[in-house]
Amino acid sequence: MKIAFIGLGNMGLPMALNLIKAGHQVFGFDLVQAQLDAFKEAGGISMSSASDAALNANIIISMLPASQHVEALYLGDLGLLATANPKSLLIDCSTISPKVSQAVAAAAKSRGFAMIDAPVSGGTAGAQAATLTFMVGGDAVDVDLARPLFEKMGKNIFHAGPSGSGQTVKVCNNMLLGIQMLGTSEALRLGVANGMDPKVLSDIMSKSSGRNWVLELYNPCPGVMDNVPSSKGYAGGFGVDLMLKDLGLATENAEDLAASIPLGELSRKLYEMHSKAGKGHLDFSSVFNQVED
Ligand code: NAD
Repeated sequence: MKIAFIGLGNMGLPMALNLIKAGHQVFGFDLVQAQLDAFKEAGGISMSSASDAALNANIIISMLPASQHVEALYLGDLGLLATANPKSLLIDCSTISPKVSQAVAAAAKSRGFAMIDAPVSGGTAGAQAATLTFMVGGDAVDVDLARPLFEKMGKNIFHAGPSGSGQTVKVCNNMLLGIQMLGTSEALRLGVANGMDPKVLSDIMSKSSGRNWVLELYNPCPGVMDNVPSSKGYAGGFGVDLMLKDLGLATENAEDLAASIPLGELSRKLYEMHSKAGKGHLDFSSVFNQVED
């Protein structure tokens, strides 16, 4: 396959490198030169614009920060819908609003392109180890075409439903994760206030009905687990501002549908306070400290 990969950041770069390792020819573009240099050094073909990268590709993958970046990449005056070959399959792996995702896919369809949304879960470690979970929305025929590529970047590939469904699942999942992180932090803080050792508390709750992914694999209390952001000064991992963006997507989505998400909204406010306190760049488990503040 000839693949254009647009957005070579924390997630996109390791994902693109796994496609190169699998023997594909990958044309990459990122606005940041350092990311392009790292891509080139690892065997990628670096290009000077998204349109150039897409020129000879039959698959175009984007991995950008948020909805507005995806809209600009595809719908802008010199965007990919105006410049790329309509025979190429478009795959957006960014986490964006389901509504925007559907609108971009509809615009793509009107220009003769097939497009699927394929946001991921599994973090930067999953992107490096090619163990991501893909949540895919779009027509089955297009999902099947992309599946062999997803299998080179991930372990679990789910076809969630029609266009936008991948983003819907991602928004629900990350809202739950954001709430779980706050709930787990609150429980750990309460135990510690009682004089409990947080490791003993975590071990017991991990084998009891409060068990969850945060408690088992991503403990927010420093020193309980090795190799998680909380034991490395909350560096790396999944940023507070990215979690805040995802909770904003959940709020916006719920408002559109008049759906009730009181815990999601409360969580969004707590992450927002944490971000405004200057912690937006830290891993989202640092909200453990916001709970106490
Ligand atoms: P990032 O900020 O590290 O990377 C995004 C890259 O896109 C940057 O390098 C930026 O320069 C580039 N970019 C922006 N606009 C561009 C354009 N028009 N053309 C080319 N390049 C452009 O972000 P990330 O951590 O890689 O996350 C990407 C997406 O994946 C986000 O939507 C995020 O929510 C989602 N996500 C992230 C994680 C994680 O753990 N970091 C996990 C799952 C999903």
